[in-house]
Amino acid sequence: MGDHAARRREDIASRPALHPPEPAPDTDALEAARRLFAGECRFIAAAHTARDLPPDRLPEVAFLGRSNVGKSSLVNAVTGRNSLARVSRTPGRTRQIIFFELDGLMLVDLPGYGFASAPKSEIARWNELMTLYLKGRAGLKRVLLLIDARQGVKPADEAFMTLFDEAAVSFQLVLTKLDKVPPAELPERLAEVAAAAARHTAGHPQLHLTSAHASFGIAELRASLGALAAPAAPG
Ligand code: GDP
Repeated sequence: MGDHAARRREDIASRPALHPPEPAPDTDALEAARRLFAGECRFIAAAHTARDLPPDRLPEVAFLGRSNVGKSSLVNAVTGRNSLARVSRTPGRTRQIIFFELDGLMLVDLPGYGFASAPKSEIARWNELMTLYLKGRAGLKRVLLLIDARQGVKPADEAFMTLFDEAAVSFQLVLTKLDKVPPAELPERLAEVAAAAARHTAGHPQLHLTSAHASFGIAELRASLGALAAPAAPG
């Protein structure tokens, strides 16, 4: 991470409207999460059909968002690895559900939605697998629903929020590409996105504000995910 990124990070952090309303995670939580994400991160499965889903045995956090929202970049930033999300971008494998295991936490990379060119049969298959996963997974603790900070919440994002309400799946909105939003537009943009989450019973009240390119909000996101991990086995 060069000086340029550090400067952008400082610039973002100094904008008053960007400070999340919740207290920042304490240093113990940040350190525990840093260690969790610095540890082993194993590729477990790429599920194309329900039969390929791995056993439901750990707490899981799933990343979801429109195509191009910045999901691969965010998954890579959070895990500190540049190769994880690339698996899901291999042509022909884009609509699989990818599972990675940390020590006590499964990270799940769900396929991006909103693509225009996919054949109808492919979209139907994909919708079926997603719905089955999202509604039937006991270990799924939270879905991180990524929203491009420049674009705000779109109807397709709203449709997922409604599905989460129906399925009682907790979701949290994560704004991406924060470095791209002109400071003057931020307060209004944040208020709109927070209001969208508040309209849904399954919506977590805290927004995560991130920029993968400026490494902004990444440690805080790790801490919030770390809090969902299974406690380490004694000894
Ligand atoms: P995905 O399709 O959701 O996996 O999105 P990608 O991670 O591939 O990102 C899509 C585009 O957005 C790429 O051109 C990225 O370089 C860009 N992008 C991703 N994250 C950021 C960010 O934090 N800031 C900016 N400015 N661009 C980003």
